[in-house]
This record gives sequence, C-alpha cells and structure tokens, in this order.
Amino acid sequence: MNNDNGQANEALSSGGNAGKKERVAVYPGSFDPVTFGHLDIIRRSARQFDRLVVAVLNNTSKSPMFTVEERKELLAEVTKDLPNVEIDSFRDLTVRLVKSKDGDVIIRGIRSVTDFEYELQLASTNHLLDPEIDTMFMMTNPKYSYLSSSIVKEIAMFHGEVTELVPPEVESRLKAKIEARKG
Ligand code: ADP
Repeated sequence: MNNDNGQANEALSSGGNAGKKERVAVYPGSFDPVTFGHLDIIRRSARQFDRLVVAVLNNTSKSPMFTVEERKELLAEVTKDLPNVEIDSFRDLTVRLVKSKDGDVIIRGIRSVTDFEYELQLASTNHLLDPEIDTMFMMTNPKYSYLSSSIVKEIAMFHGEVTELVPPEVESRLKAKIEARKG
C-alpha cells in the first residue's frame, strides 16, 4: 500500500498483519477523577482503534484533587478488562504525545454546545500545530451528558451519592480522599 506521497509506508508491519498499519488513538484529559462519562468514551473508542492510549494531562495550572499517579491508577483499574487500552501521562503538547505513540488521532468527548466551542478551538489549534493529526469527537452517551469530574467532586465533598456517576473503585478513593482532607 502507498501513502499520498507514493512512498512505501514504513509503518507497515510484516507477517500475519501485512499491509495493515496499527490504528492508534490518544484520549487526553484531566480525568480528575475518571467518571462513567469518560469510561463510556474509552469503551467506544477502544472498539474503533487497535490501540487506545488514555493520557492524563499533567497540568500545573489546575489544582487537581488526585495526583497524576492516583488518576492513572484509577484509570488502569477501571479499564483492566480492555486489553487494547493503555494508560499514560504527559506534560507536553498533545500532538507530540500522539506522534510519540505512533498515532494520528486525538479522541475528545462532547456533551454540549459549550463543550463544542471549546473543543473546536482546541482541535483547530492542534490542527495548526500538526495537520497530520486529526481530532475525532465522540458524542456523549445521553445518560452522561450532564456528568463531569467537577460535579462528582462537588457532590462527594458534601457526602452525596455518586454510585451512579463513577465506578466503585473511584467512589471509595473519593471518600478516602475527602476524609483524609478533613483529618
Ligand atoms: P479536560 O480538562 O481535558 O477537559 P476532562 O477529564 O474534563 O479533561 O475531559 C476529557 C474529555 O472527556 C473532554 O473531551 C471532555 O469533553 C470529555 N468528557 C468528560 N465528561 C464527559 C461525559 N460525561 N461524556 C462525554 N465526554 C465527556
């Protein structure tokens, strides 16, 4: 198979998979913490790609509740039944991370028109930085269209019920974190 420039595609693998390049996507985000909304996007994108890298953004300008290591642990725990999902973190431009993973797609989720405006800005910026990388959007599962990590933290802080919003591992870590903060 040739690419647009007519050059042999170096990434072609040999053997049983001959002629097929592995399709790799990266789903970046804060995941502070991972919710059922994120998990739904992860499961659906993992079905569309050979490999999905879920990457925790190590963003110094936000003050997160969970450390990057804790967020990675939780993501690893809740995706352990998905063999083609890998968890990582990064402190760099997303497009560079995607290249380093041999990927060419960024996955983002959209819940609302408000999300769309921000995501369009982000996708356009990433396109400017590296036009070879495409952003693909997954529409939220309507069940989770209102769900965000901030809402979950807000509810948990006031000891509200979050069972319907996050996996059980996340719920218990949230409770432990809030108790530890009080003590
Ligand atoms: P960021 O700080 O990068 O927005 P988030 O962890 O808040 O990180 O979100 C990561 C991505 O997941 C974003 O594209 C966001 O729109 C999407 N997302 C978050 N919650 C949901 C949800 N309930 N349904 C669909 N997409 C979601």
